[in-house]
Amino acid sequence: MGMKVYIEDRIWDSFQFFDEIRSLFKFPVEFKPYMFKDPRFLAYIRVRSPDKREFYEPFPVEVDNERKGLIKGVIYDGVELLKHFCLDVDVSKPTVLITDRLIATFDEDGRYHLRMIVMGPAAIISLKGILYAPAKPPQYYIKLSFGFEDVIDIDVGKVLKMLLLQFYAYFKHEEVFCEDNKCMLHNCHTTEEIKRVKGLCERHGKMLEDCLTSSPP
Ligand SMILES: [Zn+2]
Repeated sequence: MGMKVYIEDRIWDSFQFFDEIRSLFKFPVEFKPYMFKDPRFLAYIRVRSPDKREFYEPFPVEVDNERKGLIKGVIYDGVELLKHFCLDVDVSKPTVLITDRLIATFDEDGRYHLRMIVMGPAAIISLKGILYAPAKPPQYYIKLSFGFEDVIDIDVGKVLKMLLLQFYAYFKHEEVFCEDNKCMLHNCHTTEEIKRVKGLCERHGKMLEDCLTSSPP
């Protein structure tokens, strides 16, 4: 068993977490750059409205901007993006795409929500999602309202490892999330919850012991 991690081509050179990810698992992790080949499709699956899930034929300029990578502020439908990715790669072993695109899913409350990860036969992890998806503590909003563009205080490497483990546990054991708020498989919604995570709970430590090196995170 191994894992395949694709990094979107546009961020390959600036990606800093190769060793950190490699050192988490006992099995080999293979990294490869990845490029979406269909700019029209990417423009097509943009989120157009926070409370409607509808897609329409993009304007030529939007397709052109996709081609040039001018996608600041663009959010993609994570489910569609994942489906598209899964058709393009071999998903017989755990396969992940790490991207800097913002991804969101349309939920039962009738709204789109930013996501750090979208999981299915493979997974897409959003680095920007790691920074923006979890709710920030109230002080953060206060600072922002006073005009301080503060550095967002999240250990991206730690969250990446949590998300990769969550996908691996889901892929291998059909385990979704853990109730224990200190466990790396806990579904964190806020930056405070992320800070509380310390490692794996006893049950998940046992479950994953044959594939993990000694002591995450
Ligand atoms: Zn657990």
